[in-house]
Amino acid sequence: MASSASSPKNPLVQFSVFLALQVAPYERPALSKGFLLPEAPSRLPSFHTCVGANEERLTPKWYKEHGIELVLGTRVKSADIRRKTLLTVAGETISYKILVIATGARALKLEEFGVKGSNAENVCYLRNLGDASMLVDLMKSRPGGNAVVIGGGYIGMECAASLVINKINVTMVFPEEHCMARLFTPKIASYYENFYKSKGVKFIKGTVLSSFEIDSNGKVTAVILRDGSRLPADMVVVGIGIRPNTSLFEGQLTLEKGGIKVNGKMQSSNSSVYAVGDVAAFPVKLFGEIRRLEHVDSARKSARHAVAAIMEPNKMDEFDYLPFFYSRVFTLSWQFYGDNVGEVIHFGDFSGSTFGAYWVSKGHLVGSFLEGGTKDEYEAIAKATRLKPAIEDIGELERLGMGFALAISEKPPQPTVSNNGRGSDLVLEKPIYAWHATACVALAASIAAVAYWYGRRRRRW
Ligand SMILES: Cc1cc2nc3c(=O)[nH]c(=O)nc-3n(C[C@H](O)[C@H](O)[C@H](O)COP(=O)(O)OP(=O)(O)OC[C@H]3O[C@@H](n4cnc5c(N)ncnc54)[C@H](O)[C@@H]3O)c2cc1C
Repeated sequence: MASSASSPKNPLVQFSVFLALQVAPYERPALSKGFLLPEAPSRLPSFHTCVGANEERLTPKWYKEHGIELVLGTRVKSADIRRKTLLTVAGETISYKILVIATGARALKLEEFGVKGSNAENVCYLRNLGDASMLVDLMKSRPGGNAVVIGGGYIGMECAASLVINKINVTMVFPEEHCMARLFTPKIASYYENFYKSKGVKFIKGTVLSSFEIDSNGKVTAVILRDGSRLPADMVVVGIGIRPNTSLFEGQLTLEKGGIKVNGKMQSSNSSVYAVGDVAAFPVKLFGEIRRLEHVDSARKSARHAVAAIMEPNKMDEFDYLPFFYSRVFTLSWQFYGDNVGEVIHFGDFSGSTFGAYWVSKGHLVGSFLEGGTKDEYEAIAKATRLKPAIEDIGELERLGMGFALAISEKPPQPTVSNNGRGSDLVLEKPIYAWHATACVALAASIAAVAYWYGRRRRRW
């Protein structure tokens, strides 16, 4: 959470960052990937980063050098939006002119679904550095042991891959018919499930955990499923979703989609308060809807936009974000852009290593997925999705596959004012041809880093 008031480096603005963390902010995606590797694992300070904003390590020294007050280990326990004050657990009252809420989210606990046992010493969640360190210790202490992964979403899939790489036997349990049910089609999911199976992962789908067997030392020894089956377990990893941290602001700011509702400047229902990242529900112009996203690219870009809107309110356009999700597991790597609604067509080689899908809704391309693409190809699907071209011939889209996005990105249609934001007026009727794309770069992570970056950029003007 960041507040602003005046600074030694820039007398106009002072940034203060208040964090419940004991260490400086870091990029969480590393926790389920490089951090869990048995060899040459990522460790801080390597991911005290702000991907896209600069190449610097954002250690406490960095904050100090840039005139940003970083207050660690301090939780804000209440907020008074009318009086513009925050109260910390240490009893300190902080006044602000502008407040940026970047409180993110917390992992959902099993207890919220009526299952006890989260406190057992071998049950792990994965939201923060402490959780990831606990999982590393568990993997080291039970070589060749059995892990049960509860949940088939991002965290479950990425943890399962890391556990296997650490030579742990993995069983995944989730209620849906296939993994990554919120994003993947059954066909895409089946590719990943087969890949995981080839690495030894077992899947138990369509059921949920009902209880744990816990020994006298407080360790889980087995997981009991609702269908009565029993899975021996040396460790359990739970990835069952997150809840945005909005409680400080409930009843004071308008909430939507479980988050703090903001406008296209990331400004909440109170004009002095902005919200960014996982906690913010913002208008996604491309879809004409309010969405709350739980992804790092959205956190970086919404933070950057909020800072720009605070610094130069009259110059800023509305936030125009193209939703972007990605994951990397084993040797696999996928990216998704846009929205997974409407009719879906698949393309590419599902028996090989490069394939994808397009989603078409109301006659326009709205979403694109690609596994195993090159940099140019990922950039092409991003660009094509952003352009929302009209698709009249779905069969042709299927036939062109990757070639469609590459062609569109090479020769983008001119957006027209007359189609009320529906997308580009390019119509897919016949095959189109070219094979290269240009780049787009993601920027910024921590709100303070973005603020500093923006301040510097302004001074250069
Ligand atoms: C293990 C893991 C892997 C991930 N991998 C990917 C990935 O591959 N790709 C992807 O797109 N996304 C990924 N994500 C999601 C991504 O990390 C989040 O979208 C991103 O961290 C959101 O950033 P944020 O700043 O909004 O919130 P957070 O990163 O949650 O930060 C919130 C901060 O606010 C602090 N805070 C909360 N309440 C208070 C309070 N009352 N007082 C003071 N401080 C407070 C917290 O301590 C924390 O420091 C992953 C997440 C996890 C956990």
